[in-house]
Amino acid sequence: MIGFAPTPEQSQLQATARGFAQSEIRPLVERTRHAKAGWDDVKPVFEAGAALGLTKIFVPEALGGLGGSCLDAALILEELGAADVGIASDYFSLTATMPLLLQRAGAQAELAAFSAAPAMVLAGAQSEPNVAGSELMLAGADPAFGPKLAAVREGEGWTLRGEKSAFITNAGVADNYLIIARTDAAQPLMGGLSLFWVPADTPGMSVGRKTPLIGWPLTSHAALHFDDVALPASALLGRAGGAAMLFAMVPEMPVCLAACFVGLARAAHGYALDYAKQRRSMGAPIARAQAVAMKLAEMHQEVTAARLMVWHAAALCETDPMQAAMVAAPAAKVRAVDAAIRCAQLCVETLGGYGVTTEYEAGRFLNDAWIGWSCDFTRDVLMLGIAAAVTGQE
Ligand SMILES: Cc1cc2nc3c(=O)[nH]c(=O)nc-3n(C[C@H](O)[C@H](O)[C@H](O)COP(=O)(O)OP(=O)(O)OC[C@H]3O[C@@H](n4cnc5c(N)ncnc54)[C@H](O)[C@@H]3O)c2cc1C
Repeated sequence: MIGFAPTPEQSQLQATARGFAQSEIRPLVERTRHAKAGWDDVKPVFEAGAALGLTKIFVPEALGGLGGSCLDAALILEELGAADVGIASDYFSLTATMPLLLQRAGAQAELAAFSAAPAMVLAGAQSEPNVAGSELMLAGADPAFGPKLAAVREGEGWTLRGEKSAFITNAGVADNYLIIARTDAAQPLMGGLSLFWVPADTPGMSVGRKTPLIGWPLTSHAALHFDDVALPASALLGRAGGAAMLFAMVPEMPVCLAACFVGLARAAHGYALDYAKQRRSMGAPIARAQAVAMKLAEMHQEVTAARLMVWHAAALCETDPMQAAMVAAPAAKVRAVDAAIRCAQLCVETLGGYGVTTEYEAGRFLNDAWIGWSCDFTRDVLMLGIAAAVTGQE
């Protein structure tokens, strides 16, 4: 039997997330809409969300987390994404899904530290300035491609040398970083990359200037520089050479990101609908004009279809994680971002001239939605991966 109704517990989680999004995130977005703002403004809101358990959805109950499923997370993150997709994606979705990497790497001490902290922010760094980020997905068996930041064995520990790209989410804000580095340059990505736990105050690691994006104004992205960063042996998470496999074992990451974009698509639809009901033309609300009503109907379909793909992928994370990782999770991310971009575009159109002013939200939706096209792999590269999986290519 296939069920679409959330359980009473899930409805409760959804209501909690919606209440938090409306009472904390929305006022922050409104307050800072025309002002320069950043982490100092977001921090209290992040801490309030963390206090509700929204960063510990996947942390086991025994460690003080919610012990939730991917579907639980998707329900929560859609609510946060409807309030602000940047805050939802960067601070909540990323921080909430990273503990799954720790669990699957067997990193008990780091997981315990995350669980014990009231509001720890995490970041993950793979991409690099002089390497096409797409190589991480497409490099296959050729060791010449992919990240170059080196982790060299020195004594009992490791030394990191190199840099990560200007896109590292939560750079300069995170308490701890999960860094992908080359431990074996002769091996392809599967076998040559390893994952390291690097506290923000580790000597030799520095953060570049904040990268300005076309949207997501309350988020932080910057480069990371590693100048002979000495790490203890215990900084290696999982086995040496196991990082690419570890990331492949966490399909929840793209599913949760996708849920944030379903939230954005829903918000754009809701905004356009409200506007169309009150704006009048030729003596009637424009929502009655068939050309506008068709846009509103299309947006409804976009949101519903994207949500169903996210829920399906979330369910597969529990029952068939391999299928989720290969097809359903990247497909959900592609579909949700497509829905967000389409709904934002239709929202701009519905508002007519007001859609392209900064006094209304439609333009913000569009800029915010486009960021999804390339974050956590581009749409094209994800589609290439899905194509390879469904056609059975290596
Ligand atoms: C908001 C945001 C947040 C991010 N956060 C993080 C983060 O936290 N950590 C992190 O490590 N990285 C992060 N990234 C980096 C992100 O993963 C990369 O930007 C993305 O994978 C694309 O890599 P690139 O920018 O180098 O583009 P490229 O790989 O240079 O691609 C450029 C274009 O060419 C296409 N292309 C490239 N190679 C091929 C090919 N072989 N075949 C067909 N088409 C190809 C791409 O689809 C794209 O259209 C973030 C990016 C953004 C925008």
